[in-house]
Amino acid sequence: MIVLQREQTVQEHLLQAAIRRGFSEYKDKLIRLQQGIIGERYVDRSWHDMQLEEAYYLFHDFQTTMHQIDTIFLCAKFILIVEIKNIAGRIDFDEDRHQFTRTLENGIVHGFRNPLDQVRRHQRMLQEVVRGLPILYAIVLALPKTIIGHIPQGEPIFHRSGLEFHIRKLLTQYAVRLSSPALQDLVTQLLQMHTIHKAQLNIDKARVRTGVLCVQCQSKMQYHSGHFKCSKCDYKDDGTSLKQAMRDYCLLVDEWITNEEFRMFVEIKSGDTAKYLLKKLGFPYEGEKRWRRYLITC
Ligand SMILES: [Zn+2]
Repeated sequence: MIVLQREQTVQEHLLQAAIRRGFSEYKDKLIRLQQGIIGERYVDRSWHDMQLEEAYYLFHDFQTTMHQIDTIFLCAKFILIVEIKNIAGRIDFDEDRHQFTRTLENGIVHGFRNPLDQVRRHQRMLQEVVRGLPILYAIVLALPKTIIGHIPQGEPIFHRSGLEFHIRKLLTQYAVRLSSPALQDLVTQLLQMHTIHKAQLNIDKARVRTGVLCVQCQSKMQYHSGHFKCSKCDYKDDGTSLKQAMRDYCLLVDEWITNEEFRMFVEIKSGDTAKYLLKKLGFPYEGEKRWRRYLITC
């Protein structure tokens, strides 16, 4: 049973908005994130295919102020922390040097943060708060093409295809430690620990590109007699481009917007038109007259 869904799309939307609004430096980050998401979804599907007989709980993208865990598998016998890696090429772990490298086919070597250090840090955190259950971990390689080179002996590092075998092995190895109510309490405890981080980027808000951007060609649209129109590709906005502009503003600048800020951002002069469009968007608002501000909800 999935008790916590993966919510990385917020981060993805944030980066897409930033790139659209003039911060092209986030392109690489977006590509890495999207590759990661593909890998995680690929591994997520394995749980569904396993058809385990035992009751279990999955927490995807579990976060506290100091930790971000790809997946937590919880059952009455143990907790398994799953770290998902999406790395092309050949990977090698050097325990003594705490080094983790990836070698591409062309021989180029990159260093990465050692995932073993990462999962052990998560393990220590959970050991402090969870009583009565062994806390285990595994590193799962999402890409079938990744070649696993040197890994420390006995460390659970394997391909996605090995996850089911690993889980079934652990389920036979460990005995039941928690009663059903105690397990439920632990689910609640973990959910209470989970804190949702508001995805944010450290950007200069003054540099955010203004205007309603055409959803077809990304050019700035002009407002004429009732709607925004793209002068480049002739696309007439049905409301999608304006809503996207509002979402961008919400993600990059503020979730609240005044009539004046709205005019500045969508680049229209008339206060009445702004009032009309804001009303049409149907945002909840607070305050009266010039103090009125709208909460962007689209
Ligand atoms: Zn256009």
